Amino acid sequence: MTPRKKTRQIKVGKVAVGGDAPVSVQSMTTTKTADVEGTLQQIYALAAAGCDIVRCTCNETEAAEGLAKIVPRSPIPIVADIHHQYKMALAALEAGVHGLRLNPGNIRRPEHIKAVASEARDRGVPIRIGVNGGSLDPSLYEKHGGLTADAMVESALQEMAYFDEVGFDQIKISVKASNVPLMVEAYRKLSEVTDHPLHLGVTEAGPLPGGLIKATAGIGALLLEGIGDTIRYSLTADPVEEAKAGRQLLESLGLRERKNVDLIACPSCGRAEIDVIDVANRAQEAFAEKEIPLQIAVMGCVVNGPGEAREADLGIAAGNKRGHLFVKGRNVAVVPESEMVDALVEWATFINEHGVEAAIARVDTALAEREATKDRNALLAEQGEDANHSNDKIVEIRKKIGS
Ligand code: SF4
Repeated sequence: MTPRKKTRQIKVGKVAVGGDAPVSVQSMTTTKTADVEGTLQQIYALAAAGCDIVRCTCNETEAAEGLAKIVPRSPIPIVADIHHQYKMALAALEAGVHGLRLNPGNIRRPEHIKAVASEARDRGVPIRIGVNGGSLDPSLYEKHGGLTADAMVESALQEMAYFDEVGFDQIKISVKASNVPLMVEAYRKLSEVTDHPLHLGVTEAGPLPGGLIKATAGIGALLLEGIGDTIRYSLTADPVEEAKAGRQLLESLGLRERKNVDLIACPSCGRAEIDVIDVANRAQEAFAEKEIPLQIAVMGCVVNGPGEAREADLGIAAGNKRGHLFVKGRNVAVVPESEMVDALVEWATFINEHGVEAAIARVDTALAEREATKDRNALLAEQGEDANHSNDKIVEIRKKIGS
């Protein structure tokens, strides 16, 4: 992974963005901002799911008034999303928001942009220049012959020039598009010409699972290149899914410390002794709300499972109607197949509280190893080395092509 590109640091409320700050997760509420209680309920759910900064629309006076009540009660910083009406930005600043997002595509009068930037400067509130491929300034669209990476970057730079004129530099920038290669190209170009922190996103990525894939492809590709300081998944789903996805992406890239279980599972094959999908799903559900930062494996057979998942903190592999538990590759216990998920939860909780050594010390590992070997050998005797019948198929293939 390429080291992260060094950007300037800004503060969105208590959350640092850019510089050496951890990459943060953002999402956006879907409630009417004027509905104070409903919006706060969603914000609390987002914060619990790993969201660091939340955006609320500020599209009418009632929304700005709602923000005045939401901001002091929110557990995470609030950014007001502004389109078309610069006065809504001024109203949101008055409400005490921790950041603004301005769309340069639909607030275009220089005096309006500068009025907002001056007010934000005086209050020490940062602004995201949120360029969006779908609402690009029509003059740039025309100049570049359509929606291009250069057009989006130019839109951001134009806005920055207005901010410069009033001495405002607490900026982060996004150049989102729904087309993944275009979005990646725009961010790459932008990161070459600015050291302001970048907010990554694939706009209008859509419903699950396609939306998740598009957003992960674009955001993940850039993060792997060291580009990006804060991210948002724009999914047509409950925003809690956005926060979870953002958090999981950062954890899987090693950019944020693990908070929850990293569940790995084999894809299953002819050797599987259990319904791996069912057990993995039940394990996922059992660990969903638990803050246990361990990697846990669900493996379909004891023949290959413990070896393939030897790096996991804890795992279970099936064999002869039993579940063989292993910790860091060492067999520790055998449980009936029906108790596999419960056993994983019990062991994971113990390891989380007391550590791996204490967990191993409480059992007879030699006995567990003997039992695993017994079941492994029984399965090998029953299924042979080639449980997926690959060799039989190869013989048939060769017969067919006459080789
Ligand atoms: S060999 Fe065993 S562990 Fe590997 S995919 Fe097949 S069932 Fe799963």
